[in-house]
Amino acid sequence: MNSIEKIRNDFPILGKKLNGKSLVYFDNGATTQKPNVVIDAISNYYKDYNSNIHRGVHQLSQLATQKYEDARSLVQQFVNAKQREEIIFTRGTTDSINLVAFSYGRKNLKAGDEVIITAMEHHSNIVPWQMVCEEKGAVLKIAPINIDGDLILEDLYDMLSERTKIVSLIHVSNTLGTINPVREIIHKAHENNAVVLLDAAQSIQHMPIDVIGLDCDFLTFSGHKIYGPTGTGVLFGKKALLDEMDPIQGGGDMIKEVTFSKTTYNELPHKFEAGTPNIVGVIGMAEAINYVNQLGFDFIHQQETLLLEKATSALSSIDRLKIIGNSQQKSSVVSFVIDGIHPFDIGTLLDQLGIAIRTGHHCTQPLMDFYQIPGTARASFAFYNLEKEVDLLYEGLKKSVKMLS
Ligand code: PLP
Repeated sequence: MNSIEKIRNDFPILGKKLNGKSLVYFDNGATTQKPNVVIDAISNYYKDYNSNIHRGVHQLSQLATQKYEDARSLVQQFVNAKQREEIIFTRGTTDSINLVAFSYGRKNLKAGDEVIITAMEHHSNIVPWQMVCEEKGAVLKIAPINIDGDLILEDLYDMLSERTKIVSLIHVSNTLGTINPVREIIHKAHENNAVVLLDAAQSIQHMPIDVIGLDCDFLTFSGHKIYGPTGTGVLFGKKALLDEMDPIQGGGDMIKEVTFSKTTYNELPHKFEAGTPNIVGVIGMAEAINYVNQLGFDFIHQQETLLLEKATSALSSIDRLKIIGNSQQKSSVVSFVIDGIHPFDIGTLLDQLGIAIRTGHHCTQPLMDFYQIPGTARASFAFYNLEKEVDLLYEGLKKSVKMLS
């Protein structure tokens, strides 16, 4: 049995007071808080074995290398990849998507080819494709959604054709919470010989991911959204695809041999990890994954579902408040607008009560255009949040509506 209070003690920041009020942290979609095991792993690296990895003969370097490469094996198991070489460490989801767009995309797209994304993508899964499509004369197509925030699957499937080379989509929407039926979408894309990239930035921390079961070609996520350090991330790619791809950054570690006339590239995964990587970050991310593994996704799902249901029902009862994103398949995110009140003002007033939510377009401006709103207020929950914190949000919102009306 997991006790929430015991779990909360693992996260020192959760005991913080802001303006004399206990911190209520509901901005987990933007970044998650870090448990002591992660903080300690970072501190221990610098205290005990700080050194550069790969090719060092001394003991510190060997220990750091082992921890860094153990982290790769852990991520491999965590997402159920066939081989550890399929796990590339990056700076985060954005970095991983850019790597695929500018390596795989640049090599494989030609004029007239099509890339499909969806109307609910984060800017990180829009802009790299716009850039590479423009460069190659390819066409970027947008699969539409309905007002509840669900993909209109028939329209997406109608878009697939022999011209479709890449489908790149979000697994769970950071703004709407929608969980997309990705297994079915991947299957349909493959029937049309398209490769599929799954942006798992908002699913990796909430549900088990199985890249073999899903059969996705690429998968991306960020360490900081799964209780690990910022500046860390992962690109999973099927080995056959990664083998054919060229590096987009040159430098140390990614080479086999360098002469002034020619350079040959290192094997996977090092081919895509130029320069000294975020060694301490990767080691910290591994601790975060261990922590999540120990808690287990059953527990995480149970706790987050409780919070989502309670918040949805409480917030729906507030006058003039409208929830944006009403899919039947939702993760623990509640985005909302209140008629006549700017989301920024709601966020500012809640902040004075110690409640941290996010306001704005959440890096999904085209989605805001679809709903014809400037932005939303968004509360996003993690397993360490409490039901009584949802009560505080509800009370805080009622107070804010009264004050701002
Ligand atoms: N994709 C989604 C769905 C996200 O929610 C985010 C971050 O909010 C990103 C991509 C970008 O992640 P990062 O800024 O860690 O690269």
